[in-house]
Amino acid sequence: EGKPDTVLRVDDLQKSFGGLTATDHATFEVKRGTITGLIGPNGAGKSTLFNLISGFYEPDGGSVTVNGTDVTGLEPYQVADHGLIRTFQTPRKLEGMTVREAMLVGPRNQPGESFITLFTSPSTVAESEAANLAEAERILEEFEIDHLATQPATDISGGQMKLVELARAMLADPEVLLLDEPVAGVNPTLAKKLKTQIRRLHREGTTFVLIEHDMEFVMDLADPIIVLDQGSVLTEGTPEGVRNDERVISAYLGG
Ligand code: ADP
Ligand code: MG
Repeated sequence: EGKPDTVLRVDDLQKSFGGLTATDHATFEVKRGTITGLIGPNGAGKSTLFNLISGFYEPDGGSVTVNGTDVTGLEPYQVADHGLIRTFQTPRKLEGMTVREAMLVGPRNQPGESFITLFTSPSTVAESEAANLAEAERILEEFEIDHLATQPATDISGGQMKLVELARAMLADPEVLLLDEPVAGVNPTLAKKLKTQIRRLHREGTTFVLIEHDMEFVMDLADPIIVLDQGSVLTEGTPEGVRNDERVISAYLGG
């Protein structure tokens, strides 16, 4: 359909916090239609990379291109408008909301654009709520969490919160979805459900970038796999290739 084959390009991205270099000349591409894994030891800079790509952090240098458009330095909601949505390693607390309400403040508001609207312009919310409600219900059912719709969003388990987080992201209908440790703290049954949903959405055309600590999970879903170490791309390859790469093994061992 004339869209670029590369949905995401990260070029020479740089980010420091004080004296700490979290992202160090990171460069890679994500091809349309892939589930691309992003792995690396704790503190390698994986979440920081997601924050830089999705507009939550401003890079010190380098660029981010989504669907052929330079989105470097744009606000999260603007990056979302270019088709890229991310979830958080730790889902944000949604105090005082039911699961259904949490779903409805989700679409396109990467940090709280419509959340602000919720308090300033109730009529606008009423309209968008009507437009999104049916779709939210559909997704809740698909994810088999529709029975939680009226529960306080803070009262559900960590695993269920992860599903809600993914469901909210899906409501935005992204072309590229970045998932930050979707199964961390999720029980095996829910993790399996999550895997099934990711596969289904992938079949339906969503491109994924998947950060995951659970090697079995990521190796099963993703190809290629990009390995990050100390803020830089160490290597990229097939699950098999990466698994047997000495440099990857030693990075994980802290070598
Ligand atoms: P990963 O997700 O791979 O475990 P992170 O991207 O969370 O790694 O962190 C990479 C490094 O950057 C860590 O040393 C972390 O402490 C640091 N870091 C991340 N975000 C911030 C921040 N907002 N302020 C200061 N340091 C940060
Ligand atoms: Mg992280």
